[in-house]
Amino acid sequence: MGPPQSMRGPHTFHVTLDVFRRPLRDLRISVTDRCNFRCVYCMPKEVFGKDYAFLPQAMVLTFEEIARLVRIFVDLGVEKIRLTGGEPLVRRDLEKLVAMISPLGELDITLTTNGSLLAAKAKPLADAGLKRITVSLDSLDDATFKKMNDVDFPAQKVLDGIAASEAAGLAPIKVNMVVRRGLNEDSILPMARHFRGTGHILRFIEYMDVGSSNGWRLDDVVPMREIVATIDKEFPLEALEPAYRGEVAARYRYKDGAGEIGIISSVTQPFCADCTRARLSADGKLYTCLFATEGHDLRALLRSGKSDDEIRAALEAVWSARDDRYSELRSAETAGLKKIEMSFIGG
Ligand code: SAM
Repeated sequence: MGPPQSMRGPHTFHVTLDVFRRPLRDLRISVTDRCNFRCVYCMPKEVFGKDYAFLPQAMVLTFEEIARLVRIFVDLGVEKIRLTGGEPLVRRDLEKLVAMISPLGELDITLTTNGSLLAAKAKPLADAGLKRITVSLDSLDDATFKKMNDVDFPAQKVLDGIAASEAAGLAPIKVNMVVRRGLNEDSILPMARHFRGTGHILRFIEYMDVGSSNGWRLDDVVPMREIVATIDKEFPLEALEPAYRGEVAARYRYKDGAGEIGIISSVTQPFCADCTRARLSADGKLYTCLFATEGHDLRALLRSGKSDDEIRAALEAVWSARDDRYSELRSAETAGLKKIEMSFIGG
């Protein structure tokens, strides 16, 4: 590959491309490294126990700092913002951040949440400018769901949060289910039955080797083709074209017209070639890949009095040098690398 390249995009301004000519379109912002769940595949209690040292407040970006960065990222071509975590709704007054960033451009602002606090938060978030929402739900069966969230949290409360989001107009709602062999593959069909015909889009996620604390093994992954075959047997499916470049989910529709599902198969069908995402951790580090081992410290730039132009130049330099394509290179060896935890960098 040649040197960093640039082109004129759909915007009137200059678009920065990375080494593989991928533009920067999406920014995922982790607003906290804390979560009220202890999902066994993400923040297992053995690692994230009572003594775990979460970030002290002074190290976490303020809403003003986040909003300033968003303004600069929008100048660089970012069109979509996803707030995540940790659990984003454990950060107090999150709707204030949404209200601060929604006037900064024609932005698609969305949020990924475990849904536990959503029933009370959906309306204030929508009023502040949130457009859509993704809710994680790994099973409707309480025994299975509680085994996975490991804090005894019932599925019905998450369904209440989904209903409140629908009432608040946060549509279309996406529901994400991580499938892990031996834990919840039995929940694939009940989840499909429950959500087909509701207008919500159920998306199955292959269990990934993010971070280093979940003890990932390839055997734990239920591959996309198996998920599709399981559903197709009861509800015939047909593949759909991606809605836009960089869409992570492979889409299928129910042939009887009851809606669509998505599969996020980062393990068996990597989508690095179209990846237009950057990730900002709660302490202000920029990561150019979910599987990155190191980030770029934007908090240091913000807090050392750099101007917007200087920060923009630094971001352009990081993005033009970006050559990550971890999922395409994944192997038994890379799975063992010391990577950043998903709860830290955001899903
Ligand atoms: N707390 C929020 C939530 O539950 O959606 C946002 C953060 S969470 C890290 C984002 C998403 O990542 C969730 O859907 C979660 O299930 C998923 N996730 C976490 N660890 C994963 C793994 N090892 N493989 C695949 N997905 C994972």
